Amino acid sequence: MKISMVSEHASPLAALGGVDAGGQNVHVAALSVALARRGHSVRVYTRRDDPGLPAVVPVRDGLEVVHVEAGPPRALPKDVLLPYMHELAEGISADWGAAPPDVVHAHFWMSGVAALEAARHVEAPGYPVPVLQTFHALGTVKKRHQGAEDTSPPQRTWLEPSVGRTADRVIATCSDEVFELKAMGVPGGRISVAPCGVDLELFGSGGPAERKGQRFRIAVVGRLVPRKGVDLAVQALALLAESGHDDVELLIVGGASDSAGLASDPEAQRLLALARILGVVDRVLLRGQVPREQMPAVLRSADAVVCAPWYEPFGIVPLEAMACSVPVVASAVGGLIDTVVHGKTGLHVPPRDPQALAAALAELLHNPGYARRLGAAGRQRARARYSWDRVAADTEKAYQVAVGGTAAARRNRLQPLGGKAL
Ligand code: UDP
Repeated sequence: MKISMVSEHASPLAALGGVDAGGQNVHVAALSVALARRGHSVRVYTRRDDPGLPAVVPVRDGLEVVHVEAGPPRALPKDVLLPYMHELAEGISADWGAAPPDVVHAHFWMSGVAALEAARHVEAPGYPVPVLQTFHALGTVKKRHQGAEDTSPPQRTWLEPSVGRTADRVIATCSDEVFELKAMGVPGGRISVAPCGVDLELFGSGGPAERKGQRFRIAVVGRLVPRKGVDLAVQALALLAESGHDDVELLIVGGASDSAGLASDPEAQRLLALARILGVVDRVLLRGQVPREQMPAVLRSADAVVCAPWYEPFGIVPLEAMACSVPVVASAVGGLIDTVVHGKTGLHVPPRDPQALAAALAELLHNPGYARRLGAAGRQRARARYSWDRVAADTEKAYQVAVGGTAAARRNRLQPLGGKAL
């Protein structure tokens, strides 16, 4: 199949760990590679965010990344990108020319806006190409948890459901998302589920672990944004110290790549201030961004990986930890409900509950044999269910269903979304 991926802000070529660079970048990159490996021809369209980038970057056989001019060619927060989606759509359909793809797969709601518009431009076979949508995150869920702190553009409240209802198929990454999508008005019959995966060649239990001292190491990995709940891990560390566990450290990975960047990062500074107030700052290691190739060694150095987000559309980090045989303590939200099996591959705790987090960590601290068993079972689960090849096969099935959809159904979405301007 000839596949176009659209990922407006999340380039598969970007460095990870910054505020807007995380799971979506990994997902688009790994899924595209896996689809190319299965013989498909994949072109990923992303916004040019640096004037020096080449127009087209060949990645491997069957996979190219196209940088489309859409807005100023510099890094911009994703929440200001909506006005440039029209330009992105024009760039995509211009690149297609007279040879549109068999399917377009959009990632994140704004890419969906651009993909649907690009598909509308192309009428070569008599109707537009099928558009599949993976949201990665839903505005309804974000607003529920972040309230006034949510910086999404207001148009998201009506454009996102409109994308969901208009796309030929929506690919949810976890069962929790299916409920949210149905609540948004996406018919169940148009939803497929394909989770995110983990790079099993990179993440495994066999390789080296970063050196560390004697302390029990808790690691937290991800973008340094409040909703990831890193402050809960700092509070749990303090609770453990209060209950006599002085032999514990917390490694925080993510955020800026150097100390100057971390010094000016408000979330990094908030976490350090909290650790100082709680008297555990000497046990908090703020590492900053870790390049992808070094991540397995960092994860293997941990005795437990904590993922304590308020909400989580999917969460690739727990899978990476599981693949490295490290037990995971995760809040029971979103994708973490599917990936982490309580008492088998890790422990679930309620969200935003530092006491429960500390108690779960104490359980692992006191039972190293149990912790090892959870880690080993996590590795098995990651290998059995979450290889990118398996995810690509599931995604391919969704593509086939969409391609088989009727032209009549597709004509329904020839009108601009909700008839409203962006
Ligand atoms: N990551 C990384 N270096 C960092 C921080 C994060 O490579 O310094 C990677 C991490 O290993 C994972 C991704 O970024 O592959 C984060 O994905 P996840 O789905 O857990 O969170 P998201 O960022 O999508 O909210």
